[in-house]
Amino acid sequence: MKYPYSLPSLTYPYDSLEPYIDKMTMEIHHTKHHQAYINNLNSALEKYPEFHSIELEEILKNLNNLPEEIRTPVRNNGGGHLNHNLFWQIMTPENEIEEPQGELRKSIEKYFSSFENFKNIFSETALKHFGSGWAWLVIDKSRNLKIYSLPNQDNPLMYNDLPIMGLDVWEHAYYLKYQNRRQEYIQNWWNVINWKKIEEIYLEVINK
Ligand code: MN
Repeated sequence: MKYPYSLPSLTYPYDSLEPYIDKMTMEIHHTKHHQAYINNLNSALEKYPEFHSIELEEILKNLNNLPEEIRTPVRNNGGGHLNHNLFWQIMTPENEIEEPQGELRKSIEKYFSSFENFKNIFSETALKHFGSGWAWLVIDKSRNLKIYSLPNQDNPLMYNDLPIMGLDVWEHAYYLKYQNRRQEYIQNWWNVINWKKIEEIYLEVINK
């Protein structure tokens, strides 16, 4: 993805993740929140053509190369764009596969002993994250699978790790339906995960 950035369309309708994620949340999240990150990212980079031909991932890996006056807006809004772009892709209404398979499954079992345990650690990490942010499954520099949370719209690329899956725990992701019940939102989210897509991402990342 390069400048000028634009809103990716979803491959499923806004109401199709019901009852786990409601239509209004999806619509506002996509057309207002995600769009705002894109608008702000474009306006931050507008006067800096030297960054227009660079992939967003590369820009975010090297934030220190940015002029200081746009470093924070690009971090927040570039992260916001990249994170949401991933988030929409790793959800699906079809959900014909309820658990990861293949290589990803093997790796999850290697690092977290079982899928159930992985699920618990990921959910706990998302639940305990204080304030706005995301829970992440990543591959780190030593090729280990790891779970952690990051604040705001930070992406694991900013910490030299490679993102595999991320869960948005900003209140805008769940408040209309769940209010303060983040735990219920997290539990329900497991019903709409696109394991096929996450497996694809995993294979792409480990074969890099
Ligand atoms: Mn969000």
